[in-house]
Amino acid sequence: MQYVSTRGDSPPIGFLDAVLSGLAPDGGLYSPAVWPLLTPEEIAGFAGKPYAVVAADILSKFAGDAISRTDLLQITTEAYATFDHPAVTPLTQLDSGQWLLELFHGPTLAFKDVAMQLLSRLYEHALSAKGRTMTIVCATSGDTGGAAVEALRGRDNVRIVVLFPNGRISEVQRRFMTTTTDANVRCLSIDGTFDDCQTIVKSLFQAQGFRQAVDLSGVNSINRARIAAHVVYYFTAGVALGAPHRPVSFTVPTGNFGDAFAGYVAYRMGLPIERIVVATNGNDILARAIQDGRYARGKVLETQSPAMDIQIASNFERLYFEVVERQGIETSRAMRGFAESGAIDIPPKALASIRELFVGAGVSEADTARAIVSTYSDTGQLIDPHTAVGVAAAGRVGPKRPTTPMIVLSTAHPAKFPEAVEAAAGIAPAMPPAGRGLAGREEKIDHLPADAEQVMAYIRAFAGA
Ligand SMILES: *Cc1c(COP(=O)(O)O)cnc(C)c1O
Repeated sequence: MQYVSTRGDSPPIGFLDAVLSGLAPDGGLYSPAVWPLLTPEEIAGFAGKPYAVVAADILSKFAGDAISRTDLLQITTEAYATFDHPAVTPLTQLDSGQWLLELFHGPTLAFKDVAMQLLSRLYEHALSAKGRTMTIVCATSGDTGGAAVEALRGRDNVRIVVLFPNGRISEVQRRFMTTTTDANVRCLSIDGTFDDCQTIVKSLFQAQGFRQAVDLSGVNSINRARIAAHVVYYFTAGVALGAPHRPVSFTVPTGNFGDAFAGYVAYRMGLPIERIVVATNGNDILARAIQDGRYARGKVLETQSPAMDIQIASNFERLYFEVVERQGIETSRAMRGFAESGAIDIPPKALASIRELFVGAGVSEADTARAIVSTYSDTGQLIDPHTAVGVAAAGRVGPKRPTTPMIVLSTAHPAKFPEAVEAAAGIAPAMPPAGRGLAGREEKIDHLPADAEQVMAYIRAFAGA
């Protein structure tokens, strides 16, 4: 399988190179040259198979002959053995038509582990074959950083630098990154927002000579393999509730649009998804874009669901590329325009095609807290504030037809955000074993202003370049 850039101005590359390179040289994101299509029989065949097997089946469609099926199955088996639930991503029923898809059973209690445990092993596989050592940089709104550190610490052939916005992530999120003692990990607290961190990371990739000097790569949600990893649970959940024989709907709490875009990919691959509700907090750039047709940056608000405090949804570029019928020149024009003016007016035909699948819903802080309370009183289940944004949005929008199951993605364990959960529900979530002991460990953090030059100097020193 070949991968092409969404901006149309980089040569196509293979799967492993797309995984290792993060951003394309023209500033675009890598996308498969064609979407692999699964037959209804293949989809039905996922029923009852272990998660790691389905993951290997789906990933092999994206990897083509770049990795053998045996190696892939070994990678997915090891990756998902780190989860503390036998189903890896179990479904729990909330009411007659609504389910939660629990994506938080990995080592850092958020859905980012699903991709990162896989990605770290793909990196090791690819780099040991090539005899290279890479520097991975990662901007995090809280959960990606911890998941990346946990997955990559102590591994051969990689060093990792995580940039996080100072004071804007929860203590548990921070401690998952900063209490690691492995020498191949650095945590950088940046004076700024997540968008500032992400902008710095993008500029590192575009800085003349820097990328080569430290052999730079990224594991942000822009990474191709992360999207592929998320596609898997759309299939397992869909099949568990009757697909391909009946359609399903999803609600996805979203910030950077990685997870929600994976739902679009599952749809393009043949899963009968009737609707995807794009649930945002007050940082509602995506919900507004779908409603009004104008993708326009606002000011970043701090909310109870900090992993979604984002106003530049990097993976929106992937969707834009698809709905303008894969015209790289148009995608490039729109994204450069956005970088300059902070807005894109989505062409009417493209908007109509987005609305065939997606509905946007912005959720207030009060409604988020109410969803935590009502879910607890109705079902006895505590949910985290990100999941609550999804539950509130699903309650408001619902599936297209009332008989279609609605699956709300539960993206973090409530114990990762104990303050917000306790403030709403009046009860503190119990910390599962993966998160115990964090509070007592020493933290290791470096601190820099939101300045790409200083971050580059820091990384050069760490990489010995
Ligand atoms: C990252 C994250 C999200 C948003 O995911 P995107 O792929 O960026 O849209 C939602 N919830 C939690 C808990 C997260 O960590």
